[in-house]
Amino acid sequence: MQQLSVQLGTRSYPILVGSGLLSTLALHLKPYLNQQVFVITNEVVAPLYLEKIKAALSNDHQLDIFIMADGEEAKSLQTWQAALDALLSSGFSRDCTVLALGGGVVGDLAGFVAASFHRGVDFIQIPTTLLAQVDSSVGGKTAVNHPRGKNLIGAFHQPRAVLIDTNCLQTLPQRELSAGLAEVIKYGVMADHDFFSWLENTMPALVGLDEGKLEQAIVRSCAIKAQIVAADEKEQGQRALLNLGHTFGHAIEKAQGFGSWLHGEAVAAGIAIAADIACQRNMLSESDYQRTLKLLKAADLPVNAPVEMPWQQWQDLMLRDKKVKQGKVRFVLPENLGHAVLTAELDPELIRQAVSRQRD
Ligand code: NAD
Ligand code: MG
Repeated sequence: MQQLSVQLGTRSYPILVGSGLLSTLALHLKPYLNQQVFVITNEVVAPLYLEKIKAALSNDHQLDIFIMADGEEAKSLQTWQAALDALLSSGFSRDCTVLALGGGVVGDLAGFVAASFHRGVDFIQIPTTLLAQVDSSVGGKTAVNHPRGKNLIGAFHQPRAVLIDTNCLQTLPQRELSAGLAEVIKYGVMADHDFFSWLENTMPALVGLDEGKLEQAIVRSCAIKAQIVAADEKEQGQRALLNLGHTFGHAIEKAQGFGSWLHGEAVAAGIAIAADIACQRNMLSESDYQRTLKLLKAADLPVNAPVEMPWQQWQDLMLRDKKVKQGKVRFVLPENLGHAVLTAELDPELIRQAVSRQRD
């Protein structure tokens, strides 16, 4: 098992990563768990992993289980209210712990339940998708969706601990694994050249579900995210660099209707577009641009936006992105490999070419 820490003063918390940690859960989480534990999971994850949680905790804890529907649509105010109703009818107090067992959807919803119940109760993340393990479970952003848009209602609420059992990835659909790898590649491109090179050598093993290698990739990814979150918890500065590929990715997701492209797939195409622009501006060499495309493809990820998206639609969607400040779209671009910068000054023609280019 490896342990990292997100350094946030009195709200610091550990990230524990290892194979089979669900079986020894009680031991690892003992210091962070209250007597009352409210587990939020979903109908896909519950049959796979809930028994392990019950076996580990039911003797010493008052355990209540809330099983939500699968899918992004369930990350709603309705589900949030149903979870709060269940907490109240079970007689849970402000001294309870909300424990999320699932992917980013469960984690985001459970986190917002924890943030709002009695103005905030303890929260523990047990992420079970690669995306949740390397991204959404760390950093304290919690939210539900509104019919008008994704993640519009939420709060910052840091967990007390994050427990990552790499063994959970063995049951993950291949497409979801690749989607998580897009965020892993993002960390290499934006923050760590050595990690990028390591990923080039290791991608076949990661795609092949090699647990030891996955653990290393998760630890490195979480370490990068933890360091950025510690420096800029509320995204007033460098945390925005984590959005590499996301301005373009969000536009693709919205244009296609959420769900047809997975978030990670859209981010992968977005990273390719950002690298393309950086290459045109001589911030990234042609060979590093090609390496980026090759690595994305090795993870079975797309490097092109959908052909049918007209330029007008790109402009509309990017202007509506929540990262827009004072009418200016801010883009994160890679600068060499292992570094990224934020820029608001981009030639629209350069963007138009990069979003419409079909790379093979
Ligand atoms: P998800 O939670 O929908 O999980 C993907 C699918 O995998 C679901 O069908 C889920 O039931 C299933 N699943 C989960 N674990 C499994 C396992 N071990 N084996 C088999 N199936 C499993 O999607 P996701 O990609 O994990 O998360 C996406 C969500 O995360 C979005 O709502 C996004 O907004 C949010 N997000 C939040 C942050 C943040 O900082 N809070 C960051 C990134 C993404
Ligand atoms: Mg993302």
